[in-house]
Amino acid sequence: MTATVLDGKAVAARVRGEVAEAAAKLRAAGVEPGLAVVLVGDDPASQIYVRNKTTACAQAGIRTFDHRLSATTPEAELLALVAALNTDPTVDGILIQLPLPAGIDARRVLFAVDPRKDVDGIHPENVGRLLMGEPRFVACTPFGVMKLIEEAHLSLPGAQAVVVGRSNMVGKPMAALLLNANATVTVCHSKTRDLAAVVARADLVVAAVGRAEMVRGDWIKPGAVVIDVGINRTPAGKLLGDVEYAAAAARAAAITPVPGGVGPMTIAMLLANTVTAAKLRAPR
Ligand code: NAP
Repeated sequence: MTATVLDGKAVAARVRGEVAEAAAKLRAAGVEPGLAVVLVGDDPASQIYVRNKTTACAQAGIRTFDHRLSATTPEAELLALVAALNTDPTVDGILIQLPLPAGIDARRVLFAVDPRKDVDGIHPENVGRLLMGEPRFVACTPFGVMKLIEEAHLSLPGAQAVVVGRSNMVGKPMAALLLNANATVTVCHSKTRDLAAVVARADLVVAAVGRAEMVRGDWIKPGAVVIDVGINRTPAGKLLGDVEYAAAAARAAAITPVPGGVGPMTIAMLLANTVTAAKLRAPR
């Protein structure tokens, strides 16, 4: 079997096109979608992420409000900025780029964001809504994974779905989304016994571990769908996923590449969430 490659770049481009259309309609109705992007400190990777998000917003017709603060900014000042953005009617979404510098309590800052502007989907109210099957904003990476699964034409009701990784940003919301879609969900983590046997039962594997090629190709059930969230850089600078790609692709029905799979979806879903937030204030 040779797997269908799930092209995240193409799906993300389509989502971004749909977002641009929705943003244009909102602007025509007098609502300009706006995203506040808050970057504290000068972490080089964060600077690149923020630049990419800002450029993607501009291309989709979403206005951005850039807030760059020094690494020594007191937590109280950041909380005051969040409070101001919460009440600013031109700001639909608030993105706090992580990680925040040591000395700032990230939980306190993230929990201070108005849940109706939490386009990253990480506020407890939005996480709770997702668990209750009434999602509003869903964390961008797992939300994007659901779009890629649609491309694989896998019927989720009753399917055995195995999520490897249980982080708050990826694994847990991923499991909740799959459960809401009526899959039979198993969540694996560092204490899971015989991971290979658990993965071998899966019709769908979502790997979000952060360890290069940890999920071996010969664990994959023939015909399964494999989604690789991992981004691991080798010492030589090559990007590898959490799945042993070539061997897994020889058994899977469909698989995401790294790069070019899940990665491009994350920004696309941030834009989609921002337009959803803008619709909350649009006149009906
Ligand atoms: P994380 O917070 O470090 O969580 C990793 C998870 O993997 C934890 O739940 C951990 O278990 C589990 N794990 C570690 N070793 C394991 C093992 N040997 N067997 C089974 N499970 C194991 O990472 P994350 O933020 O979820 O990110 C995961 C990966 O996705 C990273 O490579 C990250 O770069 C990538 N990522 C990509 C995107 C994107 O846009 N494509 C977005 C976010 C993240 P415990 O809970 O027991 O420690």
